[in-house]
Amino acid sequence: MTILRIALPTPLRRLFDYLPPASGLESIPAIGVRIRVPFGRRELTGVLIEVAQTSEFPLTKLKPALEILDQTPPLPPHLLELACWAADYYQHPVGDALHQALPVLLRKGESDQPSPQLRWHAAPGISSDAVAPRAKKQRALLEWLLQHPEGLDNPTIRSAGYSSAQQKLLSDRGLIEERAAVASETIATPAQTELLRQPLLPLNAEQQQALEAIFERDGFNPVLLQGITGSGKTEVYLQAIERVLHQGGQALVLVPEIGLTPQTVSRFRSRFKVEVQVLHSNMTDRQRLDAWLQARSGQARVVIGTRSALFTPLKTPGIIIVDEEHDTSFKQQDGFRYSARDLAVMRARAENIPLVLGTATPSLETLHNAQSGRYRHVRLNQRAGNARPPGFELYDIRQQPLNSGLSDEVVRRIGIELQQGNQVLLFLNRRGFSPALMCHQCGTVIECDRCDARMTLHRTPPHLHCHHCDHQRPIPHRCPSCHTSDFKPQGAGTERTEGVLQQLFPDTDVIRVDRDSTQRRNAMQDIMERVHDGRPCILVGTQMLAKGHHFPAVTLVVILDADAGLFSADFRGMERTAQLILQVAGRAGRAERPGQVLMQTHHADHPTLIQLVNQGYEAFATAELKLRQNSGLPPFIYHALLRAEANRRGRAEAFLSTLCSALASGELNLPGVSWLGPFPATMEKRAGFFRAQLLLQSHDRRALQQLLSSITPLLEQSPLARQVRWSLDVDPVDN
Ligand code: ADP
Ligand code: ZN
Repeated sequence: MTILRIALPTPLRRLFDYLPPASGLESIPAIGVRIRVPFGRRELTGVLIEVAQTSEFPLTKLKPALEILDQTPPLPPHLLELACWAADYYQHPVGDALHQALPVLLRKGESDQPSPQLRWHAAPGISSDAVAPRAKKQRALLEWLLQHPEGLDNPTIRSAGYSSAQQKLLSDRGLIEERAAVASETIATPAQTELLRQPLLPLNAEQQQALEAIFERDGFNPVLLQGITGSGKTEVYLQAIERVLHQGGQALVLVPEIGLTPQTVSRFRSRFKVEVQVLHSNMTDRQRLDAWLQARSGQARVVIGTRSALFTPLKTPGIIIVDEEHDTSFKQQDGFRYSARDLAVMRARAENIPLVLGTATPSLETLHNAQSGRYRHVRLNQRAGNARPPGFELYDIRQQPLNSGLSDEVVRRIGIELQQGNQVLLFLNRRGFSPALMCHQCGTVIECDRCDARMTLHRTPPHLHCHHCDHQRPIPHRCPSCHTSDFKPQGAGTERTEGVLQQLFPDTDVIRVDRDSTQRRNAMQDIMERVHDGRPCILVGTQMLAKGHHFPAVTLVVILDADAGLFSADFRGMERTAQLILQVAGRAGRAERPGQVLMQTHHADHPTLIQLVNQGYEAFATAELKLRQNSGLPPFIYHALLRAEANRRGRAEAFLSTLCSALASGELNLPGVSWLGPFPATMEKRAGFFRAQLLLQSHDRRALQQLLSSITPLLEQSPLARQVRWSLDVDPVDN
């Protein structure tokens, strides 16, 4: 008897056995094909993982599958394997993990055959002489189409700067025509002249070395490309991709959520003539599926995407690039808690291709891998072109008068820059008007009812907002304790700073960039246009300003509160602070004008800050790694964090304690794994739930994995499990 063992998107950590469809099987289906099955009263689409001869259930209990949806599996075998491996490693139900590896429409059972796609072609027998040379654009478009017998689609033509009017003139004359695309099989490897829209920049010596390092070894070759902002990393990516394209390969580029800006994409599109596809969350399901299918068919030669693009199949994989590899958005923070960066390493190994991890501020994990020789380490220390790196200054604000967080010195320096026609950027990682609202009579601070946290005061429009659970309410008229109405905002957020700056510099454009000011569609684009016209202005914003965008006219960066992350409860606090400071600093002085970074601090003598500022990130990070090693922290040990929450205080801890008893009694005896906790979470109450966590750790990754696989069933079966929500986070990025 043939038994189909299928991964289904359910919370259950196992496969499900089904009989072949009632209509019978023409042949044994391939592993990885999608199958529609009845499940309870629903129908689900799952993925075939095994074909077996027997089942542990009586055959009479098994139901027949409804339909086999694919002839060939949508994901190539190695990506199916990677997704299954990841489900196992991150302790996530395999059916759901596989679902997340597929585009939404494929999860829903849509066909994975591309709909016939219309593309523009030069009409048969036409040469470019059919257009007079003075109609430059039309002639260039026709020439381009002649070079692309496979045809080009509308978005590609538009992004190359040809208007639909120019296109129409050609098609009205019968010189070009739109028809279904030729099958990808016939696409030949283009010559270099046909690949590039813009010439390659001559690389400086460091960039040249980096490029050579990427291809130094055939096949899998992980490289950490560490270069300050503006040192020309992207140019190295572009040239590495050019080489890969030239050999007929495709490139996958992963960027952080916030880094996928039109600027980034247009940089790739304006360099290459080949099809560049983008995968991001603002696309419709249909657009995503189309882009995915084009990557799989080999039509799209460069694929740029965020975390979930990691599983995009490529017909001829040639290189994987992870830009800003330290960015925590590569780790999914709920459900299937995978790290796209770490899986990119696995994927590149399976595909036997080069992997580039690029950043100005490597994560300590990656730096450790480089320092211990697992990754090649190349550095770009100079800024490309003539730009000079910014200079840093720590400015001691102890005992200084502050105007809503601004010292006199900062105000003076802003004035000087503006007068010289420059732009200024102020970084403050707190949105809203003020992070707390306090009663001036009795000192009561308004807290969120559902969180152990203060409500943030917002002025436009006026309300209180909890940034942890998103709860919003009106500003109270009276203090809940003393019933007077004498509230005072405590501290400054971006909204307040914006207001003060506008008062101090009434003739200057003050532009706030945070989640509130950029909610409107195209808001960010408008802001960028205002900044890029180059007139003096002041940008005030949160970490939205720190990534992806380039501000060539900014010459002064002010970090208003350099102390914000210095004393964090998370051992990664210092690492994150350093990364953020350098990312923000990197926005300044990118072009001809050198930049200056002024950091306001109450801890101007803090040795770590001083080291960071004087010796740079790598010295800081190397010292920090030593500290981690001495304290037995990652990356020198592996962590898994078991989190639990319940709507009554103590419940989550009780649930975790039962597991600790099992661990202590030796029931789950595993040498080499230790645990800490359970502890209440740093913010115990959040969104109405009381949270606790238990940290499991080991020097032996395999031992930790083994333990995790044996505790998940115990947790699932625990009688207390019905009263708590729990999750397991392997290699967490915040503790
Ligand atoms: P990063 O990605 O490290 O921030 P970019 O690749 O964006 O750096 O380079 C910064 C600026 O320097 C860009 O304007 C880029 O066009 C320019 N640039 C990069 N490499 C070169 C080079 N070899 N010669 C001249 N300009 C370069
Ligand atoms: Zn709240």
